[in-house]
Amino acid sequence: MGRKNSRGHLLGTVEAVAARWDVMERLALAFSLGPAYEACLAATVEGSPRSKIQAGSANTELRKITLNLALLEPGREPDRNATFLHECAHLLADLAHRRNCRHGKRWKQVMELLGEAPLVNHDLAYLSPKLHARVTWACMACGEEYHYVRKPRRRPQDCYCRHCGPRRGRLRVVEPPRQLELDLPLMGTAEKKAAGF
Ligand SMILES: [Zn+2]
Ligand SMILES: [Zn+2]
Repeated sequence: MGRKNSRGHLLGTVEAVAARWDVMERLALAFSLGPAYEACLAATVEGSPRSKIQAGSANTELRKITLNLALLEPGREPDRNATFLHECAHLLADLAHRRNCRHGKRWKQVMELLGEAPLVNHDLAYLSPKLHARVTWACMACGEEYHYVRKPRRRPQDCYCRHCGPRRGRLRVVEPPRQLELDLPLMGTAEKKAAGF
């Protein structure tokens, strides 16, 4: 499918990938953006073996789109295409307006131009923090779980459940079902305890 290199799996240019995935017609709806459209077509698409919970990202400066390799598995084509167009919209908006448009109204306009709903967050079960958690803590009072894709620096006894507070909401470690090699920021938000035990 593509050349493997140290940074990721090269999938090709946006133009080649769009043609292969049959979304060129959708992308061409942004033809009116002129040079931004041309630059987007020439950008690089990579599959990232390191991404765990992030579906994709776009780096306008490097003219590069990165997609989670999990999106390339059979049966996930609609998610893959939606993520690809979402990231293309970042390149198109940023290049057309010569600034980082993030998920602001300029990006939303491009999404609408592409016929996509301007949604920011995905809801893909196979990219959930829960599935990729290396460490999970659970509240001993309410059972709320806190998932961390990277080992937290704090200990569970130094934190407490945000719903139950420092007195009732003590946390215990839930044994993970499997060990994963991960490298992503914390996803849970158990609060730091005000005073030690
Ligand atoms: Zn985005
Ligand atoms: Zn709780």
